[in-house]
Amino acid sequence: MNLQKTCIACDDPFYWDDVIVIVGDELYHKDCVQLYPTGYVAFLDGDCLGITENDEGQDAYEVLEKSEYLEG
Ligand SMILES: [Zn+2]
Repeated sequence: MNLQKTCIACDDPFYWDDVIVIVGDELYHKDCVQLYPTGYVAFLDGDCLGITENDEGQDAYEVLEKSEYLEG
């Protein structure tokens, strides 16, 4: 059973120290989305994803349960 969360954009799992941006209920690597300061809207390949809840990004281990990220 695979409990690990994956990035919606690149489909890769999150490592413990990856920086994650939350958009709605979805999780992305901060590097996988483009963030704009106007209300902190996230874009992926030009598509607007929505307003981010944490525009600065957060480390994966802060956002995810231990079973949901890779230890590195
Ligand atoms: Zn990604």
